[in-house]
Amino acid sequence: MRVGVPKEIKNHEYRVGLTPASVEELVANGHEVFVETKAGTGIDFSDAAYQKVGATILPTAAEVFARSDMIVKVKEPQAVEIAMLEPRHLLFTYLHLAPDLEQTKGLMASGATCIAYETVTSRSGALPLLKPMSEVAGRMSVQVGAHYLEKEQGGRGVLLGGVPGVAPAKVAILGGGVAGINAAQMATGLRADVTIYDINNDRLAELDMHFGSQIKTAFASKAAIAAAVKEAEVVIGAVLVPGAAAPKLVTREMLKTMKRGSVLVDIAIDQGGCFETSKATTHEDPVYEIDGVIHYCVANMPGAVARTSTFALNNATLPFALKLANLGPDAAMAEDPHLANGLNVSGGKVRHEAVAEALGLAY
Ligand code: NAD
Repeated sequence: MRVGVPKEIKNHEYRVGLTPASVEELVANGHEVFVETKAGTGIDFSDAAYQKVGATILPTAAEVFARSDMIVKVKEPQAVEIAMLEPRHLLFTYLHLAPDLEQTKGLMASGATCIAYETVTSRSGALPLLKPMSEVAGRMSVQVGAHYLEKEQGGRGVLLGGVPGVAPAKVAILGGGVAGINAAQMATGLRADVTIYDINNDRLAELDMHFGSQIKTAFASKAAIAAAVKEAEVVIGAVLVPGAAAPKLVTREMLKTMKRGSVLVDIAIDQGGCFETSKATTHEDPVYEIDGVIHYCVANMPGAVARTSTFALNNATLPFALKLANLGPDAAMAEDPHLANGLNVSGGKVRHEAVAEALGLAY
C-alpha cells in the first residue's frame, strides 16, 4: 500500500503520525511511504532520517494525499485536509467526531474510510490507542503541579517531596484509572504524600495492591473530596465517565477552603473538566488563578512533550497501521473486530453507533 504522512497543521502541534522507525517497519513489509517535508522536524525527526529508512519526501501535503492510499496522522483533519480526501483514501488518526458535526459531515462528503484511534478497543474493553496519551498526561500532571507550587510561579513555595525534617506536600488524585495511576507513580517517586480517590471499589483494591503503603486510597464521596482539597497542595483531576461530561467533583464552595498557592491540574478538561471553576487553557497561556488557587487546564497536555508522545502513540498504533496496510481495510477489520470498532465513517455514512447517536445522524 502507499502510505502518506502529512505534517500536522494544528497550532503548536509537533507530533507526527509515523516515526522513522515505524516507516522502516512499513517499508520492510513492502509498502511505499510518502512523508511531507519537515513533518517531524519539530521533534528532531529530519527529512534525512525518513529518507534513510526508505521514505520519499514530498514538498506539500497535497502531493502526499495525491500519491497515498492510507493517510496516517495524529490530530483530526482540518478543513483543508478534508478537502484533499477522496473515496479511495483510508484515514487513520484521532477524530473525536462526537462533538464535531462539521468535521463528520466533511468526512462523510469525502467518501473516505476513516478509522479513529480513540474508538479502537482491546480484548479487555479498554481503549488502547487513547491509553498512551492518558499515561503521558498523568505523568506530566505531577511535574506541572510541582512546577506551579514554586513561589516564582505564583505557588505556595512548597517542594513536593519535602526534605528530611519537613513534611512532603499532599497530592490528591481524583480518579485512579490510567492517568491517575501514572500520576501516582510520579508523585510517589518524588516522595509526595499521595491519596487516590475513586468510586470504583475494585479499582481502589487494585491500586492498594499495586502501591502497598506508598499511597492511601479513599472512596470518592463528596465529604471525602471536600476534606481532601482543604488539605492538599496539589489536586489532580483524572476522572472519566465514558461518553459523558466529567462530573464536577470540586465545587466553587470547596475551592474557597483551599490553601493559597495550591494547584489544581484538571486532566479531565478535555471532557469538560472535573472542577467547577475549570476552563480550558493552552500551552501558550496554561494557568489562571481563582481564590488564590492556580488552575492548570490544558486540553492537549501530551503536545508539550511531543517527542515522547509520538513514540508512545506509535508503539500503540503501528501494529494496527501494519495490519491495515498489509491486508487492506476490509480484510483487516474483518479479521480484527477491535480494529473494526475504530471505523467511524465510510462510504459517506457514519459507521459508529455512539458517534451517530451523539450527532443525531443515521447509523
Ligand atoms: P480511565 O477510564 O482509565 O480512568 C478514569 C477513572 O475515573 C476510573 O477509575 C473511574 O472509576 C474514575 N471515576 C469515574 N467517576 C468518578 C468519580 N465521580 N469520582 C472519582 N473517580 C471517578 O480514564 P483515563 O484514561 O485515566 O482518562 C482520565 C481523563 O484524562 C479523561 O477525561 C481523558 O479524556 C483525559 N485525558 C486528558 C488529556 C489532556 O491532555 N488533558 C490527555 C489524555 C487523557
